[in-house]
Amino acid sequence: AIEQYRRSHPASERLHQQALGVLPGGNTRSVLFFDPFPPYMVRGEGCHLWDADGHRYLDALGEYTAGLYGHSDPAIRAAVSEALHSGLSLSSHTEREGLLARELQRRFPSMELLRFTNSGTEANLMALATATAVTERRKVLVFKGAYHGGVLAFGQGGSPVNVPYEWVVARYNDLEDVRAQVAAHGKDLAAILVEPMLGSGGCIPGEPHFLQGLRALADEKGALLILDEVMTSRLSFGGRQSQLGIRPDLTTLGKYFGGGLSFGAFGGRADLMARYDPRRPQAWQHAGTFNNNVLTMAAGLAGLKHLLTAERLDALNRRGDALRTKLNKMLEAQGVPLQLTGLGSLMQLHPLAGPLRSADDLVAADDRVKALMFFELLGRSVYMARRGFIALSLPFGDAECMRLEHAMGEAVNARRGLWP
Ligand code: PMP
Repeated sequence: AIEQYRRSHPASERLHQQALGVLPGGNTRSVLFFDPFPPYMVRGEGCHLWDADGHRYLDALGEYTAGLYGHSDPAIRAAVSEALHSGLSLSSHTEREGLLARELQRRFPSMELLRFTNSGTEANLMALATATAVTERRKVLVFKGAYHGGVLAFGQGGSPVNVPYEWVVARYNDLEDVRAQVAAHGKDLAAILVEPMLGSGGCIPGEPHFLQGLRALADEKGALLILDEVMTSRLSFGGRQSQLGIRPDLTTLGKYFGGGLSFGAFGGRADLMARYDPRRPQAWQHAGTFNNNVLTMAAGLAGLKHLLTAERLDALNRRGDALRTKLNKMLEAQGVPLQLTGLGSLMQLHPLAGPLRSADDLVAADDRVKALMFFELLGRSVYMARRGFIALSLPFGDAECMRLEHAMGEAVNARRGLWP
């Protein structure tokens, strides 16, 4: 499958060769790379992508959830274009940031005050900085398998380039383990930082009692609960927190809220966020040249005002649930130990049987099996993440779901005997 891929992508290979001397491995986004080289996309429209070699793909990756609106939506294009014509960097407050903030607050009432950043990573860094500054404590409880950004990654073995907080790493969906860690570190704990579903870590949903338990434990120890909803915010109008009835102290957002442009936001309790109010004596600094960049504010606002109604979002998540159920039924009927986990429009393929509740349950996954499915799908013009992640976009309709199901079914049959 890889040889066939190489032969049919000479232009992508050439572009990759050009990038090799200047970017390490030709890469500036770790998550996009795979051997021998990734396809170089040149155009997107709706839920389709075209690569430099002229292939057209069904886009089942959706820019790792940032592409919720699909490519080149007319409403977003119009808003960006209009903003472009009035000048890009105005060195000032603009009306748009207040409007976008209000749209977010309407969806996330726990964000009594909020601020913008340029990425989800930065939003999490700011939330952590806020928590450690407020509590005057240094330890942060996170979860094995969690991903909160390039310098906040807790996959197998952790990451040497993580920011140097004093991390306490607990098992996801294991309240007993959290209780033990909190008992040991509680009085030094500034925050519990958690994704309501491990996203990059494999679309492992947090069980409601587990997440609710974290709220109670944080309160008990005077630590802040930070919900990273960078991915899960799309699961309902008010994100995962509204579905679970959990009110975090701080929430972090990112991805599609910028309408497809670089975006992040952090916010929560007014008493915490008011420390950044520049009218206050000794106000905390949170600058950032592009925090209110005109194009992001315009694109984000257009998306929330014109495209993302609660009804459309619910329909998309129902479509995702139905797709995941169908794929799992098909895989089970085919007798292959592959399954998809996830919630709503977010899902992840695992070459594993059995219930998957934490990162420890995923260590036995054979990456070669994931590679096989990835290349088989790519050969059938379906583009998902190399690691098996799928995020549906609004233009991804029932016909596209059927196409994906068909391609995966064909892939399973074409490689009979190679699945574990
Ligand atoms: N938090 C979560 C849950 C994420 O999935 C991501 C990105 N995949 C981030 C934070 C980081 O966001 P960004 O890539 O915008 O820095």
